[in-house]
Amino acid sequence: MSKALPTRSENYSEWYNELVKRADLAENSAVRGCMVIKPYGYSIWEKMQRALDDMFKETGHTNAYFPLFIPKSYLSKEASHVEGFAKECAVVTHYRLKNDPDGKGVIVDPDAKLEEELIVRPTSETVIWSTYKNWIQSYRDLPLLINQWANVVRWEMRTRLFLRTAEFLWQEGHTAHSTSAEAIAETKQMLEVYAEFAEQWMALPVVKGIKTANERFAGAEDTYCIEALMQDGKALQAGTSHFLGQNFAKAFDVKFQDKEGKLEHVWGTSWGVSTRLMGALIMAHSDDSGLVLPPKLAPIQVVIVPIYKNEEQLAAITEKVNEIRKELKTLGISVKFDDSDAYKPGYKFAEYELKGVPVRLAIGARDLENGTVEVARRDTKTKETVALEGIAGFVRDLLDNIQQAIYDKAFAFREENTTKVDSFEEFNKVLDSKGGFILAHWDGTSETEEKIKEETKATIRCVPLNATEESGVCIYSGKPSTKRVVFARAY
Ligand code: AMP
Repeated sequence: MSKALPTRSENYSEWYNELVKRADLAENSAVRGCMVIKPYGYSIWEKMQRALDDMFKETGHTNAYFPLFIPKSYLSKEASHVEGFAKECAVVTHYRLKNDPDGKGVIVDPDAKLEEELIVRPTSETVIWSTYKNWIQSYRDLPLLINQWANVVRWEMRTRLFLRTAEFLWQEGHTAHSTSAEAIAETKQMLEVYAEFAEQWMALPVVKGIKTANERFAGAEDTYCIEALMQDGKALQAGTSHFLGQNFAKAFDVKFQDKEGKLEHVWGTSWGVSTRLMGALIMAHSDDSGLVLPPKLAPIQVVIVPIYKNEEQLAAITEKVNEIRKELKTLGISVKFDDSDAYKPGYKFAEYELKGVPVRLAIGARDLENGTVEVARRDTKTKETVALEGIAGFVRDLLDNIQQAIYDKAFAFREENTTKVDSFEEFNKVLDSKGGFILAHWDGTSETEEKIKEETKATIRCVPLNATEESGVCIYSGKPSTKRVVFARAY
């Protein structure tokens, strides 16, 4: 048995790193900032993908695929876009290696220099809008509602498994519309889709809001986001949806003929969530014993562990378990029967706890006699003895309860860690004592935002969509303000 995890209160970031490794989610690779996603971690990501993909299709989108490489000249067509991404681009300059004439190994062949260097996509607006130019001529071609599942590369300096990696997996939606209003509606719709996914599937409460100009996506008119709170009091941007205005249409000369025959630039949106959501899921719910997974995203929802002294007992237990498995499967519940004799039940219990399996059933010979089973739930670590009769229905209801309980717990945590402050002194005090979301008045200028960031490392996470109008004064400059924004230190 490996030694216990570091606790969250001891060292939150060590706890996170160790948990990701020990629960078999991911590991670092030879290339700094690039991770290997292991089968157990990937199966959670697949569940996320499936749920999101269904939601995208329900809202009228279809999937397509665009190339990994982008000609360098494309990136610079939209001025603020290139400015935002230039600092973190991987660039392909050559297409061949050759044997090193002076020794072992290979070198880049200087004769194989590309005429135009290629960027490994950090995001695909440029390559996609250059394609849309050929796809869009008339209002009849609109709206164009496309999503792609892909990997992207951003040469990040400070990386952390899932939360911020140099290569990450994501989906990026790219839509084109005939009016500004329609594009804005799409931007907001996809923000709602993300919020619903976070809350219903990940059991993660989020604040929906708009980014300030400083934090806006490079090339967007407006960036909408969902922000979540992690257990260490730091915020995490969990998803973004951008209203691109006509910026990319102008950069790539994408025009359509409207009903009156007039030529106009197309309106655009883009929106994405990434494998960062895995990090959010882990950080929001897990505890010092390991992962806590919401049932809807757990690769194994129920594990059954037999407790037996001899083969005869195991055979009798297995017969009963097979019935239960069948019933659970009929209800669409994924179940694993761990009858391996390589490990003792206690070891298995700890292992499934570490992996966050929401429900564990343990059945022994005496349970069979009594017609009962021991049911343990991962989130509260409580156990109870339940009748075998009707167990599948019991487990189904329990999984629903767990999904809700995990959400409620995260919601209560966020409520406890959301503080209204009215002075900069109070702001600093809260920030240093408990962190969390801080609701404060801000004068609306980038200058004040930058100064607060410099002095405190806290950033404006968003201007919440549901912020109520309230007159106040900026905690930093004392200038008037009409609503509170959300500040936090963030990942
Ligand atoms: P953006 O294109 O910058 O709006 O980012 C789209 C999504 O990818 C957001 O949900 C981000 O949280 C996420 N994201 C951005 N950078 C990274 C990174 N280095 N690693 C993982 N996810 C990221």
